Amino acid sequence: MAGREDEKERMFRFLRDTSFLKTEKVEKAMRKVDREFFVPESEKGFAYYDTAIPVGYGQTISAPTVVAFMLEALDLREGMRVLEVGAGSGYNCALLSVLVGQKGRVLSVERVPELAKLAKANIASAGISMNNIEIMVGDGSGGYPPGAPYDRIAVTAALPSLDLGHPLIAQLKKDGKLLAPVGSYVQDLVLFEKKNGKMSRILPVMFVPLIGKYGFREE
Ligand code: SAM
Repeated sequence: MAGREDEKERMFRFLRDTSFLKTEKVEKAMRKVDREFFVPESEKGFAYYDTAIPVGYGQTISAPTVVAFMLEALDLREGMRVLEVGAGSGYNCALLSVLVGQKGRVLSVERVPELAKLAKANIASAGISMNNIEIMVGDGSGGYPPGAPYDRIAVTAALPSLDLGHPLIAQLKKDGKLLAPVGSYVQDLVLFEKKNGKMSRILPVMFVPLIGKYGFREE
């Protein structure tokens, strides 16, 4: 039976071979932020499998391929100011914080208070500094205007729709980029580049719905 370290290496090989992982900086961040710390005790054996994993409250931590793809597409650089909508387990938030470094800042809005608390605890247990991270409880479907403008916005739950009038777009810097799953059930991961107003569908994905004012209604 393969040990956890072998499984981790197999995951990185798979991410590189499939080109979901493209750059050294994203691989370095994914090696530093160990996914094992962000999955429940009962699921640790699946930490390095390419699958979404339940983290409680009906929510999931996304599959490593999707996380790697989103981080590469966001083209993050040191010093950037990033808004994440949907902290969940805190995994993606920790990765964003490593990629923007201590001169950057990550603000993450999470709707479920217990998950915001879990995200902070997971980030601490993974040994990642919270100095450049702020996790807030609330409805982030309309973004977080007091923290704007942002270089990047990463939405990690599905928006029903995205048009140029969406408040998230108003909170981007002039050359900012936004990445969000858009649609119902099977969605398109959409990359919006404010510089040229281009909206590109870059990957079919399946995320949990974003619940809130600019999201879906709670069932
Ligand atoms: N980024 C997370 C991670 O790395 O574990 C995964 C995010 S999970 C797929 C989606 C998250 O979005 C859930 O934690 C859910 O509670 C949250 N969410 C849903 N609607 C939201 C809203 N309106 N504002 C903020 N968070 C929301």
